[in-house]
Amino acid sequence: MAEIEREAMEYDVVIVGAGPAGLSAAIRLKQLDADLNVVVLEKGSEVGAHILSGAVLDPCGLDALIPDWKEKGAPLNVPVKDDNFYMLGEAGQLRIPNAPMPPLMNNHGNYIVSMGNVCRWMAEQAEALGVEIFPGMACSEMVYGDNGEVKGVVAGVFGLEPDGSYGPNTEPGMELHGKYVFLSEGVRGSLSKEVIAKYDLSAGKEPQKYGVGMKEIWEIDPEKHKEGSVTHTMGWPLGSNAGGGSFIYHLENNQVYVGFVVHLNYKNPYLYPYMEFQRFKHHPMVAELLKGGKRVAYGARAITEGGYQSMPKLVAPGVALLGCSAGMVNVPRIKGNHNAMLSGKAAAEAAYDAIKAERSGDELTAYETVVRDGAIGSDLKKVRNVKPLWSKYGLTASLALGGMDMWTNTLGFSLLGTLGHGKNDAESTEDASKHQPIDYPKPDGVLSFDRLTNVSFAATNHEESQPCHLRLADPDIPVKVNLPEFDEPAQRYCPAGVYEVVEDENGPRFVINFQNCVHCKTCDIKDPSQNITWTTPQGGDGPNYPNM
Ligand SMILES: Cc1cc2nc3c(=O)[nH]c(=O)nc-3n(C[C@H](O)[C@H](O)[C@H](O)COP(=O)(O)OP(=O)(O)OC[C@H]3O[C@@H](n4cnc5c(N)ncnc54)[C@H](O)[C@@H]3O)c2cc1C
Repeated sequence: MAEIEREAMEYDVVIVGAGPAGLSAAIRLKQLDADLNVVVLEKGSEVGAHILSGAVLDPCGLDALIPDWKEKGAPLNVPVKDDNFYMLGEAGQLRIPNAPMPPLMNNHGNYIVSMGNVCRWMAEQAEALGVEIFPGMACSEMVYGDNGEVKGVVAGVFGLEPDGSYGPNTEPGMELHGKYVFLSEGVRGSLSKEVIAKYDLSAGKEPQKYGVGMKEIWEIDPEKHKEGSVTHTMGWPLGSNAGGGSFIYHLENNQVYVGFVVHLNYKNPYLYPYMEFQRFKHHPMVAELLKGGKRVAYGARAITEGGYQSMPKLVAPGVALLGCSAGMVNVPRIKGNHNAMLSGKAAAEAAYDAIKAERSGDELTAYETVVRDGAIGSDLKKVRNVKPLWSKYGLTASLALGGMDMWTNTLGFSLLGTLGHGKNDAESTEDASKHQPIDYPKPDGVLSFDRLTNVSFAATNHEESQPCHLRLADPDIPVKVNLPEFDEPAQRYCPAGVYEVVEDENGPRFVINFQNCVHCKTCDIKDPSQNITWTTPQGGDGPNYPNM
């Protein structure tokens, strides 16, 4: 194929992803120097379209970035008023008192928000400062310089032929070059994955760990709605099959976020995270809350869970990993937005200093130091053993041991040191022969829904004529390896029903309905053969979340 000719645009800083991390970096750069040229590229059709969090927001990141956010109209309208933890059994629940919980678990001072709306508001602040934001622009390739440094990205490739080749209607996109490139793609970023591998940034670190989070917005009976109420549950229906739990957050307008996270290190390939979520809503406590209400939106996204010991090196020549591109979620708090914002601010400050000193294309080591030795490192370090304890000893033991470790860490020490995670999530999947299929009740269409019906509430859309963005390294593996060994778990772990094994006269066939993809990235993480690579479809495609 002939060399592709692309126009190039030059910036001081190129930012990939308009989530809380990327937007914070953009805002901070322009606060520091209004003359810096800063661009933010976002694959969603608009800022916020692909944002999915719980979300209870710890405002410490926003406080540091825009101290007068209240006066500026930030959509943080619902302070947390009460905080409840329950251990669920199939027919009942046990309230875990708040008193023995370490102070870091307290949600007092936090807000129930739509992070999509927070990002839309942050984008307005950034644009008012002069940041260029281009939604509908997926960044599909890295651009490297002559000395092996990151020089930029390719964005805005449209109209590829179904086989991936260039055709008469293909727009080749543009190269956006920067003195520094910030990757703020969120969990399992496709370019971040490439950069982590190219520069071996995970060397000497524990493997990154993940969960898959699914979420619905419900409008419920006003009599049952308690604005500001936060509930977390553990236990049923997952039991000992997998780690995870639920969240129920009452926001404004009689709406409730109902969500469920399943840790992706589960062993049983028959486990079906989406159906666990649907089953959870039939628990008497949850069913009573939702009865008479209606589900108005659905979405899913992976969440990073490796924490402190899994964070890769954050910088390589010309590039920095921000927020969940590097995995900055505090797992027991299920919070990462505050760290995403703080990391964006820190990266911006390091780049500003470097550019003032006429540097470019080198390592922003000052950023790495601020993250590890500052507020983010301290937030993540205190809780670093919770996930490994849960993986190793299960829920009950880890509640006691993890709670104790968080308490001692709050006082400045740990009796356990830093525990490792061991295997990555793909390697955790065991042979189907070691497990029994799980019999999930059929959704009733009232409280629980089949996957495809729910996916229609994610308003996801992909132009069908484009190449499939879910690439198989070896197209034979799903049927030849994954089916006999693992009963092809892609059929179940994908919360959007993208993957099917279809039987016809020629035998089983693996089908990828990429049009349904909600960009959660679970397939890229959990495929036991590590054969699926999630790449960006053309810009503007994917879910269109209203106020997730
Ligand atoms: C179910 C669930 C519940 C959660 N609950 C909470 C909570 O209650 N509180 C909390 O603080 N945190 C919560 N989190 C964690 C929180 O969502 C993350 O920590 C946070 O989103 C990280 O921000 P980010 O800016 O790094 O990435 P993201 O918010 O994921 O933003 C990344 C952006 O980059 C875009 N992008 C990605 N790749 C490309 C590309 N190649 N080209 C162009 N654009 C691209 C994406 O479309 C997206 O808009 C939750 C996560 C999940 C999944």
